[in-house]
Amino acid sequence: MDDLYREVIIEHYKNPGYRGHLDPHDIQFEDNNPLCGDHIEITIQTDENEKVADARFDGHGCAISQASADLLIESIIGKPLDEVKQLNKDHILEMLGIELGPVRLKCALLSLKVLKAGVYGLGEASDDLVE
Ligand code: ZN
Repeated sequence: MDDLYREVIIEHYKNPGYRGHLDPHDIQFEDNNPLCGDHIEITIQTDENEKVADARFDGHGCAISQASADLLIESIIGKPLDEVKQLNKDHILEMLGIELGPVRLKCALLSLKVLKAGVYGLGEASDDLVE
C-alpha cells in the first residue's frame, strides 16, 4: 500500500469528520459485511430540492470500511440524490487511491452499498448496487 494513501485511510479512520447519527432523518439504512465483521449505518437529511442537506455514518469494523464511509459521506453532502444514485465503486476506489483484493473490496464498498440501498429505498442491499 502506498504510504500517502495509507495515511489518508488511517486519518479518516482515527478522526472521522462525519461519524454520528442524524435525528430526525429522511433516509436510514444499515448493513454488515460478514466476511470482516464491518457494520455501517448511514442517516441522511434531504432538502426540498432533493439534495443531501446533511449525512452521517456510524458503525464499526476495519480501517478501510470506516475510512471509506467517512470519505463517502464527505463527498455526498450537497449533492442531488439523483447524482448519489449514479455513484459506483470507481468513486470509492478513486478516493481511497489504492488497489484492493476481493476481500478488502467488500470492506471498501460496504458504505456505498448501504448508501445506495437507502437512497433507492430498498428493503435490502445487494452487491449489484456497487458494480
Ligand atoms: Zn473490513
